This record gives sequence, structure tokens and C-alpha cells, in this order.
Amino acid sequence: MERPIRENLEQSVEDLEQIADAESLRPQAAVTVAVEALEQDGYSRAEAVALLADHLQSDGEKYLIDLPPDRKLYTVAEIQSHKPFPIVGGPCSGESPEQVLQAARELKEQGAEMMRVSLRKPRSEKHKFQGAGDVVMPAIDWARQNLDLVTFAEVADVLELRSSRRCIDVVWVGARFNPRFLLDVAEDPRPVGLKLAPGSTPEANLDLLTYFEDRLDNVFIIERGIYTPRSPGEPYARYTLDTTGMMSMRTRIHERYGQHIPIWVDPSHAVGMREYVLPQAKAAAGLADGFLVEFHPEPTEALSDARQQLPTSEFRQFKKELEKAGRALN
Ligand code: PEP
Ligand code: MN
Repeated sequence: MERPIRENLEQSVEDLEQIADAESLRPQAAVTVAVEALEQDGYSRAEAVALLADHLQSDGEKYLIDLPPDRKLYTVAEIQSHKPFPIVGGPCSGESPEQVLQAARELKEQGAEMMRVSLRKPRSEKHKFQGAGDVVMPAIDWARQNLDLVTFAEVADVLELRSSRRCIDVVWVGARFNPRFLLDVAEDPRPVGLKLAPGSTPEANLDLLTYFEDRLDNVFIIERGIYTPRSPGEPYARYTLDTTGMMSMRTRIHERYGQHIPIWVDPSHAVGMREYVLPQAKAAAGLADGFLVEFHPEPTEALSDARQQLPTSEFRQFKKELEKAGRALN
């Protein structure tokens, strides 16, 4: 069984290298496509990654997915140097190279220095849009290099953690994660954001940090709302932003680790309705160390979270108003 698999894999990586060259896809995008092809052949993702890792090692460093040597590595401290706090806007998901480029250009024109855009979306329902995946990576990389945008994306598995290295500067672990994955994320040299799950307990949130004890100065936490009896639910608002939990978590982090870990707010996923996003963000401006907010060139046409994304054309005004609230409150 082993030999045919490897031959098949080597053949597909070879073919993909040619496709990658022809379409100027980066090698790791081709590798990811190879993993997907193996998945279609009936292998689990873990098996495909294992096979591929084996192949990569036996084939020298040709396809090694890693940071290019000239790549700047950011730190949470650098991100936090945006005063009064960093505000990272961008689409819920990368939908196509064109959409990513349009979002990036418009955000840049609107004064943005950073952009969020996710590659794959973990969805509760299989048939909903799952994110465009690696096809948007060259566009994100272009925006990073040519528009000087610091790029942020959610990573959901080891493959994505690795393949995102070329184009994503800061990663975050979504509110739905597998704890086993945190061991791999903790080894990544990039800043890592940890989104708190809407149903997690304060203890579980603190336990999350134990995975990052060796690098606590390079993580940040993201509060994105919790389930409560007062969350009206869609279409009136999705969750309740837990500012009380943010305060107590801050105290408990100080007690346990004697340090400050930035706690950001994601008002978009907390309230789920675009008209509430700025008021919710302003309400949290005295407490939050940063904001992750969804902006899309055509929000009503967005393939995911259309109801909550703000138009990229409003980024400048949003940032101005939120910073004003932050300066008044801090
Ligand atoms: C997101 O930021 O796009 C996202 C899916 O967030 P959450 O995991 O908080 O729902
Ligand atoms: Mn979203």
C-alpha cells in the first residue's frame, strides 16, 4: 500500500509545481492543494499531512513551508504600539483574490495599517461558505508587500498554520478550536490571538493560557461575546459582550502570571448587526486593548456574516470615532 501512495503523491506534487509556476502560486499553496487532492482520494487530513511531511523531508527543503528569510516577524508589543489601541478591520473571509485586493486597497485608502481576512471558515453547517482557502494567499501576500498592511487571519488546523506563514503576520485561534492544536500554535513564532469561546467558563479561559506559558508576551486574548439569557439572538443581536469577564480575567492573569496580556474586543461577532458594531465598540473602548472588526467592500453581498460587516468605505470614520472614545476614556 505504501509505495503507490508515495508515487501518487510525488507525481501530484510534481504536477502541482508546474501549475504553481504557471499561475505564480506559491509552492506552499500547491502543497496544500496536494493535501486536498489526497483528501479527495479518501485520506484523512492528518494522514495527508503526515504523508506530505514525509515527502517534504525526503525531498530536501524544496517545499518546506516556513517563513522566508527576509520576512519581518511582528510581536504583540509592536502591534500594541498603535495608540490608543490597534484597530484591525477586514473581511470575515477571503472570498476571491479580487475581493481581497479590493478590500485591501480600500482599507489602505481609508488609513488602515492592518487587515484581517480569513482563509477558511470553520462553519457549524457544512453547506455554508467555507472560505476560499489558499487561492487568496497570493492576493494577501501582495497586499502585505505592496500596501504594507500587517495581515491577520484565523488558523484552524496545522496545515493552515503552516501554509499561512508566507502571507499572514498575526494569527488567531477561533472561538471553536481543538485543544490539541494549541500545542502546535504555541510553537509558531508569530503573535497569536486567542478568541474566547462563547460558552467557555472563566477557568477554561485561563487554562487556555497554560498552553502559551513560554510565550505569554506574544499572545493576546479576544473577547467576542458569550451566550446569556439576555442575548436576544438573531436577528436582534447575536451574543452579549462580556466586559465583566474581561475585567476579572485581567485581574486573574495578573494574580497568576504577574503580567498584562492584551484583551481585545471583536464587536462584530459579539453583536452580529452592523448598526450595533460601532456603539458596542465604543462602549468597550475604556477596557479593550485592541479591536478586530469585520469590514467588506460589499457587506450585503458577503458570503459569510453579511449582516454584521461594515463597508470598507467607512473604516476611516469608524476608526476616528472609536479612537476618540478610547482617548476620552483612557
Ligand atoms: C471570525 O473572526 O471570522 C470568526 C469566525 O470569529 P468567531 O470564531 O469569534 O465566530
Ligand atoms: Mn465572521
